[in-house]
Amino acid sequence: LDYCRSLPKVELHAHLNGSLSDATVLKLLSAREQQDGDFLASAEVTIKRGHQRTLEECFQVFRILHSITDNLEAMQTITQDVIQEFAADNVKYLELRTTPKNIPNKMTKKEYMDTVLEATVEAMKKSNIRVCLLLSIDRARGVEDAWSTLQLAKEYLTHDVFGPLVCGLDVSGNPHSGDLKDYLPVLQEAQKCGLKLAVHLAEVSSDTETLTMLNSGLVDRIGHGTFIHPDAGGSKELHAVVRKQNLPLELCISSNIKSGTVKSACHHHLGFWKKENHPVVICTDDKGVFSTSLSEEFYLGAQVRTI
Ligand code: IMP
Repeated sequence: LDYCRSLPKVELHAHLNGSLSDATVLKLLSAREQQDGDFLASAEVTIKRGHQRTLEECFQVFRILHSITDNLEAMQTITQDVIQEFAADNVKYLELRTTPKNIPNKMTKKEYMDTVLEATVEAMKKSNIRVCLLLSIDRARGVEDAWSTLQLAKEYLTHDVFGPLVCGLDVSGNPHSGDLKDYLPVLQEAQKCGLKLAVHLAEVSSDTETLTMLNSGLVDRIGHGTFIHPDAGGSKELHAVVRKQNLPLELCISSNIKSGTVKSACHHHLGFWKKENHPVVICTDDKGVFSTSLSEEFYLGAQVRTI
């Protein structure tokens, strides 16, 4: 593990609100005036080693986290803390992704993103790390919300300071919600504007949806892709498309094990893709919720079976 810590690393799949450390959660809780039972219970948001939650339960955890990061001050704190923690783990290049949120009387989506971007600029001054942002489209929030997120991303492209920090869009959210094909017009427009697209695909078994997305030619990187390879029940056609397009996979070992979509590290699909010499990158997904670090994910990656 020390060796993994000493390596300079690249993190390409990290959701901002899922990356909160216990220390940051406690800091936010103590800053709240009213510490009622619900909020105190949210100190229990991380899933420790050996523990599991279903995907549905993980999405409930995100709702708790969002309830303590529902204001601009909290957004500034969490952005700085998360970046500093990645830097302390010797991450040299970080792509953070987050869903801009409009919370009535508290913040607009633009204020949310401005705050995240300003805090990112500040954090980069303090630590030896380069950070870029992906604006997330949450598939559970509907297409109209996705259009407004795209509009915001487009506005940043011409911004002097923030423009170079915004590198693309992420599509994430509960894989059981909505259908990604409804988002294709938004993603087509994003591609036309030069935004790169990282899309969560096949986090649960979903061949038809995954094929539709891949055949659209819009996807630049695949998040998870757990059920693409034939050993996990993916079709030959699906596997062939991913190989042909040589699409990189962002793989998050603890996240998949703790949310129950993969049995154990040695069963993880990293092994399958490594054997095929396919481009993959090991990532944390939600280092806070899944109680991990990129170094720990590298360490787990070394235990994955390739033969
Ligand atoms: P945020 O976008 O900064 O609020 O980060 C938390 C959000 O990331 C969650 O509400 C989900 O929409 C998304 N997310 C985090 N982990 C996953 C995952 O494993 N699959 C799909 N979406 C995820």
